[in-house]
Amino acid sequence: MQSQTAIAHIQHLQDKIAYPLQGLAKLAFNCWWSWSSEHLSIFRNIDFEKWEQCQHNPVELLETVPSERLAQLAADPEYCQRVLELVAQFEQYLVTQDTWASRNLPPDQLQKPIAYFSIEYGIVRCLPTYSGGLGILAADHLKSASDLGLPIVGIGLLYRQGYFKQQLDFTGWQQEIYPDYRFEELPIELCRDAQGEALTVTLQIRDRQVRAQIWQVQIGRINLYLLDTHREDNEQIDRWITGQLYGGGQDTRLAQEYLLGIGGVRALQLLGIKPQLYHLNEGHAAFATLEIARQLMESTGTFDEVRPLVRDRCVFTTHTPVPAGHDIFPRDQIAPYFTHYWQQLGLSKEAFLDLGNRHPGKDGWEPFNMTALALKMSRSANGVSQLNGKTCRQMWSCLYSNVPVEEVPIGQITNGVHHRTWTAPLIADLYKQYLHPDWATHVTDAQMWAKVDAIPDDELWWRHQRLQAALIAYTRLQIKQARERRGEPTEAIAAAEQLLDPNILTIGFARRFSSYKRGDLITYDPERARAIFSNPERPVQMIVAGKAHPADEESKRIIQRLIKWSHHSDVRNRLVFVEDYDMHIAQKLVQGVDVWLNTPRRPHEASGTSGQKVAFNGGINCSILDGWWCEAYQEGVNGWAIGDTADNDDTEIQDRADAESLYELLETEIIPCYYDQTAGIPHRWVQMMKASMRTIAPFFNTDRMVADYVNQMYLPKHEVSKRAKVEMH
Ligand SMILES: *Cc1c(COP(=O)(O)O)cnc(C)c1O
Repeated sequence: MQSQTAIAHIQHLQDKIAYPLQGLAKLAFNCWWSWSSEHLSIFRNIDFEKWEQCQHNPVELLETVPSERLAQLAADPEYCQRVLELVAQFEQYLVTQDTWASRNLPPDQLQKPIAYFSIEYGIVRCLPTYSGGLGILAADHLKSASDLGLPIVGIGLLYRQGYFKQQLDFTGWQQEIYPDYRFEELPIELCRDAQGEALTVTLQIRDRQVRAQIWQVQIGRINLYLLDTHREDNEQIDRWITGQLYGGGQDTRLAQEYLLGIGGVRALQLLGIKPQLYHLNEGHAAFATLEIARQLMESTGTFDEVRPLVRDRCVFTTHTPVPAGHDIFPRDQIAPYFTHYWQQLGLSKEAFLDLGNRHPGKDGWEPFNMTALALKMSRSANGVSQLNGKTCRQMWSCLYSNVPVEEVPIGQITNGVHHRTWTAPLIADLYKQYLHPDWATHVTDAQMWAKVDAIPDDELWWRHQRLQAALIAYTRLQIKQARERRGEPTEAIAAAEQLLDPNILTIGFARRFSSYKRGDLITYDPERARAIFSNPERPVQMIVAGKAHPADEESKRIIQRLIKWSHHSDVRNRLVFVEDYDMHIAQKLVQGVDVWLNTPRRPHEASGTSGQKVAFNGGINCSILDGWWCEAYQEGVNGWAIGDTADNDDTEIQDRADAESLYELLETEIIPCYYDQTAGIPHRWVQMMKASMRTIAPFFNTDRMVADYVNQMYLPKHEVSKRAKVEMH
């Protein structure tokens, strides 16, 4: 039924578009275009400026571009040909039966979908449903599942104001801006019934009946459903349950998680989708397990009787390596939400609250822990890197009092990235030539990746330099616009054109600003850092981006300190901060930098993925041995490791040691290697770029990751033992 309305909106757009470009409307409503062979260019070519203005939103672009422009393009045979080819490719993608899943999975595993729950999704730039790595990971998971032909359906929330937009004031202090998104202009569709009315689920939240409508996002072959309470028939306060991602107070968060978990399960039921399995990405969605139990109890048994059935249908991924990072709610806060609910489950208040208890047996004072609930109600659980798995087993051994720590049933599947989304077309084109015409489908083939050594150094280097030039041009423009907006003096605005230099070693650092990520470790010793950046023969420059959570004052101060440091006359052109980090800026950065820096406090980085995106583009990682890098790093081969694996609980001592190690690496290894050039080509460096691709790409991608999820988490246990390993090829 929802497809009917999708057709209605597409039809409306198609009517606007001149023959033979109507296929653009179809492309616009499925995010597949964002990782197609044409990436952004098919829409960007329509109207570059408008494309930027509308945040790469193809629906808004097509709705607002003058029809004369579309008529003009319809008369351009080359453009028409490109559209027709892309549409044909898209239609082929949608219908093909020959997929990895169809070749490797038992047919009965392909009947019912996996339901994937996540509180954020970073799918495309224009959909404001993400804040950082967790969301990017969730979307990359769905994109690869689509490519592999795995039946999966996503559940999430749609936020009226998304995550905030970031601007910095004159003093480098972060300002948060909350635009109201107009959902009718986004590439999404409201799910309606046969009468055209919005489908809604109703939940009792804070003693009121709250209705949530459902939006559909198409991600290749996969549908993602997002719940939204912004409806006239809800009270104002309830409309704001889906107001902002990670905004509002603790109570709003609780309402959101109630909606995601319980509303999500009901939405699937309403849509007629019967999942074989529920995958909870992080603890936010753990209430889903309660609703699954409640529904089962309608036909059979008590809570204790259905609990094993629920466990058998849920799997859980935990990301958070520190107790303080987990979602917890005070008992007094959570109780009013569930007064009606524990009765339906036939539980006493105490028995109910005990489900979220981290230390079984202790009661009365511990807050309700969403991770504890998810662990208790899932048949298997995993961390997101080897190290993170180990950390989680230690942290959660309290739940499994009779087992040694090594046997705590939390495994690990290391995160990856969707290579089609993150690889620059200019580099993908090289892979096509030198590795395999269809390299992306064979991404897990290590032998194929060995062929990167055959790429001529100069060929790889000039392409990399072109991407870096594009990054620098883009950065200058962003800085210039930010200075104009702040009303800076004309000279300062004009000076933005001179920032950065394409012939200087370029470091990138971009991610959420959170104190454990130590975004200012590079300036730990301000003098020494200045000497490194402003060295007249072998200078260094750095592009930084990232948002601090609105309530995180300490991280805002970190940003401010960095900006202040960059104002020193010696380094004025050498460190720049690009505001409002998002997926698009991430793409530009990971595709254009020489070195990608990551400086988390071990073991706080559960996995991290941005460095993997860099490797697909030939960038080189310099990072703390935390998360994924701990597994990928090969000394002297594919990058650099800051510090070692001996952790010190005294953060001051640890920070000083790590900063010292970083400076030494820069001074004695990274900078000399980069500037060791013959005829403008740093051959040793290029060797390392190739090693970075060769050693990282075949494993740290979401095709491998999703296959691991299928083998270790999704397939029923008896299937896994029957087919010890589902081969990728
Ligand atoms: C990849 C990505 C991240 C994750 O970065 P980490 O360094 O792994 O934390 C965060 N934000 C955006 C926009 C990204 O594209």
